[in-house]
Amino acid sequence: MKDLTPQKPAEGISLVKTYGDFRWYRVSCDCGCDKEISFSIEIDDCSITANMSSTTKTKYWYQRWRVEGNEPWLLYVGKQFCNDWYNRLEVVWKVLVHGYIETSADVILSRQQCLNFSELLKTSIADFDVLAEARMTQYEANKKKAE
Ligand SMILES: [Zn+2]
Repeated sequence: MKDLTPQKPAEGISLVKTYGDFRWYRVSCDCGCDKEISFSIEIDDCSITANMSSTTKTKYWYQRWRVEGNEPWLLYVGKQFCNDWYNRLEVVWKVLVHGYIETSADVILSRQQCLNFSELLKTSIADFDVLAEARMTQYEANKKKAE
């Protein structure tokens, strides 16, 4: 397989916002759908906080009453309506009975995206080191001033 090198700007990864030492990225699904991972990194004095989130979905598409395309309009719309509400109420029922529901989110990453994503993590560590060193230098300078 062909060797890859990390890209900048990176394929499939976009920078959404930067606030000081906080960066927010979007990692999009490689299949072309609208799924993505929202990924943020915040660097502070003693750690790097990484947060990953994604919109998960229930099986909202499930048809308890199979909808056929050649049905009379009222039956078609009625089944759609009933399927939609059945799925919603089932989720509510599961939350009431079990206290949680299971959802899933699959985000497909290409080989290049995986490399770019890992490079993003490595870069964050390097940024953290630079910031920690700068703050330590500032701390030492302030300490000397105070003496
Ligand atoms: Zn996808």
